[in-house]
Amino acid sequence: MAETHDLVLRGGRVLDPETNFDAVADVGVTGDVITGVSTTPLHGRRTLDVPGLAVAPGWIDMHSHAQTLAGHRLQALDGVTTALELEAGATPVAEAYNEATAEGRPLNFGFAASWTQARMAVIGGMPPGGGIGSTLGRIGDPRWQAPATGRALEEILALLGGELANGALGVGILMGYAPGVAHEEYAAVAGLAAAAGVPTYTHSRDLVERVPDILIDGAEELTRVAAETGAHMHYCHVNSTSTRQIDRVLGLVEKVRAEGARVSTEAYPYGAGMTGIGASFLAPERLAEWGMTPASIVYTPTGERVADAARLARLRADDPGGLAIIHTLDERLPADRIFLDRALLAGSTVIGSDAMPLTWTSGVPDPYAWPLPKDAVTHPRTAGTFSKVLRHYVRETGALSLLEAVSRASTLPAQVLGESVPALRRKGRVQAGCDADLVVFDPATVTDRSTYEDSTRPSAGYAHVFVAGEAVVSDGELVLSALPGRPIRR
Ligand SMILES: [Zn+2]
Repeated sequence: MAETHDLVLRGGRVLDPETNFDAVADVGVTGDVITGVSTTPLHGRRTLDVPGLAVAPGWIDMHSHAQTLAGHRLQALDGVTTALELEAGATPVAEAYNEATAEGRPLNFGFAASWTQARMAVIGGMPPGGGIGSTLGRIGDPRWQAPATGRALEEILALLGGELANGALGVGILMGYAPGVAHEEYAAVAGLAAAAGVPTYTHSRDLVERVPDILIDGAEELTRVAAETGAHMHYCHVNSTSTRQIDRVLGLVEKVRAEGARVSTEAYPYGAGMTGIGASFLAPERLAEWGMTPASIVYTPTGERVADAARLARLRADDPGGLAIIHTLDERLPADRIFLDRALLAGSTVIGSDAMPLTWTSGVPDPYAWPLPKDAVTHPRTAGTFSKVLRHYVRETGALSLLEAVSRASTLPAQVLGESVPALRRKGRVQAGCDADLVVFDPATVTDRSTYEDSTRPSAGYAHVFVAGEAVVSDGELVLSALPGRPIRR
């Protein structure tokens, strides 16, 4: 008697990049586990016919600051099943895990320790915790960016070490926001991560082409530390920090990788970034380094393009954590687009959205509102990153095969993290025994719909999204009551 599965996804195009499997097959799910993948029919207590649709491991987003119910919902409709806050991180991690567990989440979640918040506490004397909101609110405050004495550095390292012992998935380092911090401190944090066997996730320091008198070039720093400490250095959004220098940056990465260093890269498919308007690199006198003017910045709480340097200075003083869209590359221009393409299509770059928290322009957040009201705004990458890659790079330009795109969205991130986080070894794969985190989508129609003007329009084309075997999207609709997301700890 053949095995009977709880659910069988019948007759879809099953994609498993790790085994190079791309064929019409049935997928069986029992409880939260994939219990069969077969080109001959499987038996299920329940069957979903999915002919013509792709069945793939759910997207694993290594870069999501959208750690709220609404943020997860937008990402679920973009095919994400695991959303990790690794670059900014959250310290104390216990607070972040407890909050997400208590509220419930549709998607799996996890956090790195936050070097930035550790510094805010130890050097800046600021109260700990508060997640990404507190990080952004203080991001431009010079107090946390001051140089550390030997004793203070020891305190920072001890705090981060404790966080790793508490299950943190590595250390997130917002180096680019603290240009005065010594290179030795960065190397020491990497050394700590190497000793603990976990990655670091860096928003790199600025590049020497833009800031000739910088302490050390950001790409040089990251790759040198990878080579010298043996730490796995994950290079966050290599597109947005490298812009027109992407070839030099990727060249450095390739060079140290060839020599045995562990550097992974990540990118999102948009020419504009987003951060707190108080960030050090958005000071009026520094915009020219990026080839920008105040008008390159859109302040999301009002939707205004910043008129001039005086207005920028005012906004930075009044609302340093206010989120702003930063137009660095114009993806409509082929001359700019090429830099973005190189970042995203390079060797083993994973897709990471850098999904952002929602800004409520009315000032009154409603965490349960769905569909999202028009006064909730964000960067379009929050809602659209993964589907934009499938639309543009797979369907429209053919730069990636469907299997390659699935790999960059799911299997590669699982492999990058799996070395240090055992839970990831069962994700990013459609194989018997792996977690039933699955997306079922139409490769012919899947698309992003979010734009800079209409930033929270959900993606379309996903028929079903399963997290731990439970549908969070069913027949193209969000299942509002579904909160199967689980904490992922080391
Ligand atoms: Zn960043």
